[in-house]
Amino acid sequence: MAAEARAKAWRIVFLGPPGCGKGTQASILKEDLGIPAIATGDMLREAVAAGTSLGDKVKGIMAAGDLVGDDLMAEVVEDRLGRDDTAGGFLLDGYPRTVSQAETLEGILTRQGQALDRVVLFRVPEAVLVSRALGRKRADDREDVIRERLRVYREKTEPLVEYYSKRSLLDEIDGDRSIEDVTPQLRRLFG
Ligand code: AMP
Repeated sequence: MAAEARAKAWRIVFLGPPGCGKGTQASILKEDLGIPAIATGDMLREAVAAGTSLGDKVKGIMAAGDLVGDDLMAEVVEDRLGRDDTAGGFLLDGYPRTVSQAETLEGILTRQGQALDRVVLFRVPEAVLVSRALGRKRADDREDVIRERLRVYREKTEPLVEYYSKRSLLDEIDGDRSIEDVTPQLRRLFG
């Protein structure tokens, strides 16, 4: 990707339901843009695996497909965004997931003298999400848990589409395509 694209300190949020492919695309785009991809789900799974006190608190919530509380997530994200590697931008994957989290994020960035540049919504039909998820083998990928995660997404996270659209930050991409076909849509946004 062109040097000027890398020079900009992009502050990006990837928004979309579980299984929409945003994690895969985040790992590609972070290389293009030279910014860290911050996946809160990965951070929490690492905490569970390491048996930290955070891990103990979130283990049961994650297994049930529910959302970890906004206050706990605020601590996790503020701590992570305070690290030096985010000074040149970042890509958030899986945060915010509620309107309250979006407000928290806005507060953290304002205190740092920063603002989000863009929020990318990955659109994928629900039937595709369920069949994709059933093809994966993660502890929280049982069908009842998948359906619960999708229900939680619709109820708690989908309002963020309006939230960011009102702030003129939202771009949509068609996530119901192969990995190779989704990446160019993203590169057009950040090229
Ligand atoms: P993910 O890998 O992004 O699908 O996240 C896996 C699980 O981690 C979610 O189902 C939630 O239980 C928890 N989690 C991750 N990010 C958040 C967040 N921003 N707010 C609340 N819970 C989260």
